Amino acid sequence: MDCIFCKIAKKEIPAKVVYEDDGAFAFLDINPLTAGHTMVIPKKHYEKLTDFAADDLKLFFAVVQKAIAMIEKGIHPHGFTLGINQGKAAGQVVEHFHFHIIPRFEGDNGGTIHSVVYNPPRETLDEIYRKIISSS
Ligand code: AMP
Ligand code: ZN
Repeated sequence: MDCIFCKIAKKEIPAKVVYEDDGAFAFLDINPLTAGHTMVIPKKHYEKLTDFAADDLKLFFAVVQKAIAMIEKGIHPHGFTLGINQGKAAGQVVEHFHFHIIPRFEGDNGGTIHSVVYNPPRETLDEIYRKIISSS
């Protein structure tokens, strides 16, 4: 499979690796939105969060937590925006699941997660709630 993040995981192409363990990697985004913008990827090629095996998910979020702690110590941001673009509609470009750790700084002029999209539903909250609950 021609996946750039699989290639990073197999060390076939270089990356600025911040932290690595058996299940996941944290490395600097090649095109950082802010200082310390870091990607965390599973070593296995999962595309979506719901694809993960339970043990891999645990290992993955342990690396997310570790990378955040390292960035806090090294870069001293004032906060973080943490997120996933999952699926083309959400802007996922690399189809290997990845978690963005974006350090935030007072006065950086960035937005919040609430500025990502505004497409409020026509249905009531109750209708939406019932759809989700009844299909699980
Ligand atoms: P997205 O799929 O839109 O959530 O974002 C993919 C992210 O991967 C972008 O922020 C890119 O800058 C980053 N990226 C793509 N190729 C590399 C690479 N070789 N090393 C590090 N980051 C990369
Ligand atoms: Zn991959």
